[in-house]
Amino acid sequence: MKITKLTTYLLEPRWLFLKIETDEGISGWGEPIVEGKAHSVQAMIDDLSTSLIGKNPLDINKIWIELYRGGFYRGGATHMSAMAGIDQALWDIKGKYHDVPIYELLGGKVRDKQKVYSWVHPYEFPTDLDTQLKRARESGITTVKTTPSDQMDFITTHKEIDKVIAKVDEIHSKLNGEIDLALDFHGRVHRGTAKILLKELEHFNLAFIEEPVLPEHLDCLKNISSFISTPIATGERIFSRYSFKEILQGGYVDIIQPDLSHCGGISEGLKIASMAEAYDVAVAFHCPLGPLTMASSLQLDAVNLNAVVQEQSLGIHEYKEKEILRYVKNPEIYDIKDGYMEFSKKPGLGIEINEEVVTEIATNSPHNWKSPLWNNTDGSFAEW
Ligand SMILES: [Mg+2]
Repeated sequence: MKITKLTTYLLEPRWLFLKIETDEGISGWGEPIVEGKAHSVQAMIDDLSTSLIGKNPLDINKIWIELYRGGFYRGGATHMSAMAGIDQALWDIKGKYHDVPIYELLGGKVRDKQKVYSWVHPYEFPTDLDTQLKRARESGITTVKTTPSDQMDFITTHKEIDKVIAKVDEIHSKLNGEIDLALDFHGRVHRGTAKILLKELEHFNLAFIEEPVLPEHLDCLKNISSFISTPIATGERIFSRYSFKEILQGGYVDIIQPDLSHCGGISEGLKIASMAEAYDVAVAFHCPLGPLTMASSLQLDAVNLNAVVQEQSLGIHEYKEKEILRYVKNPEIYDIKDGYMEFSKKPGLGIEINEEVVTEIATNSPHNWKSPLWNNTDGSFAEW
């Protein structure tokens, strides 16, 4: 079997899909994307595709090593995300070729179903918090995650910190102890503020705190872990086993969150998760993305003992539910029952892409989504 063609599709709300075709009629799909930099990833796919045409798509390890090491310069968000989409598509082809789900090719499942969590937003989007929580309860969700702050200055005033604590208190009290709460600070908090804020959050017994500081400040994470008992998570902006090595060796966090559309795909995600298990660190694959990233994550959730909980896109950010579901012919893959998602028994990723819709939207309304730019009161840059 030989790879004959790679095609990318820019799709609302902020995604990029990749189709890899072969001379035997089997095709595979992947989701290579850096949110806000979709066109750069698209160009990287073009760049890498010249060395893929004519190769046997079943030789995933060989292809991965050549794509990663072969260019002399390697790594980073764009390269690893382009590789991620290619890797997902190759695994999809391999699964379809052998007529089994990818998790069967990786040794089989270690659990029957996957616990998932939901995003909730403390403001009116798209519905109020009570409606969002009602929906989570109806799905049997046992953990919700929210971002309780907006922009934060290098040193945030105690008055601003109090506002964040009040917001967390409000959400926490609505959960009645029935649902766990996790917080994602998007790396908005700086060192001096993190020390105060996280200590004040400790008594809420949070499920975890994600990116309290930017991932480049690992030394701060180590400091934070040493003075609070709340599990700390990071990893959506870390792209390879080589970068996760330092985090794991240093004991910086309790949960890592590699994104299978950013960290070199299923092949690399598997290695990162295994490394984490060796350090008794849990994995919660980052997934605010589309159905192909979701399906890839579930394949690895199935085979990794330390994959404790899975993020999923329903109810997230600016997504409308129909946007997530319209690109697939089997939207039931997103069904959540009693807080769990099922592992698909279909071959490959288990996704049936609606090519008509994908082609129509990529042709007629390709997106140009960019991350919001935020400012502090004085006009200086603030992390989003
Ligand atoms: Mg996050």
